[in-house]
Amino acid sequence: MKLIIFGPPGSGKGTYSRGLKEKIGIEKISTGDILRAEIKSGSEIGKKFANYVKDGKLVPDEIVNEIVRKKISEINDNFILDGYPRTIGQANFLLNLTKIDAIININVHDEILVEKISARRICSNPNCDGNYNIADIRKKIDGIEYFLPPLLPKNDMKCDKCGSDLIQRSDDKPEIIKKRIEIYYEQTKPVLEFLKSKNIPIVDVWMCKPPEQVVDEIIDKLKNLNLL
Ligand code: AMP
Repeated sequence: MKLIIFGPPGSGKGTYSRGLKEKIGIEKISTGDILRAEIKSGSEIGKKFANYVKDGKLVPDEIVNEIVRKKISEINDNFILDGYPRTIGQANFLLNLTKIDAIININVHDEILVEKISARRICSNPNCDGNYNIADIRKKIDGIEYFLPPLLPKNDMKCDKCGSDLIQRSDDKPEIIKKRIEIYYEQTKPVLEFLKSKNIPIVDVWMCKPPEQVVDEIIDKLKNLNLL
């Protein structure tokens, strides 16, 4: 099964893809994770796009497309793309490369996003995908009841998986978050309409409850589409 998980920055794409990997064994391809690991490694190519990521801007399509092409050729037919495609150019490249079975579209109000991203903490070990959140969000907006308790590590600010320190992503600071949300509306949101026009089925969910419940809802909806 080939899926895209789509939504604004901080909407839980990484968390839900990890949950899906655990429950249905689908491989996550996160362009953000790959770019951050490359930057941390100090490689020449990483140096070229480090400033884009630091400033919350999109890395040029050619670089990201090549990363995805390589990764998909290694993984074959069972993957979920997290954070890609983010431009119409990337979407065109992807659809020429392979067929996508469904898009998981995450809905969330902007004010929740800012609260949630500012509270995100990640594992400092580039080989670990530990991800936590210190925000405790319980409120109702436009009829949507948000119940998002914190996702805390067992030991104070150390990763449960590998014991490394937890840190804040450098692009999870308020000014950069605003920029990333702006770019999402300008360049990435239109990608959803483009993909819809290609008749790819959409699975809609709200980021309003604990991740395990959202993951179960996604799995049920994939079953309804006969993809599982
Ligand atoms: P993410 O972890 O998905 O929020 O991505 C973090 C940062 O990596 C983004 O703000 C961009 O600078 C860069 N990035 C990740 N995916 C892409 C993409 N598909 N196209 C361009 N830049 C990307």
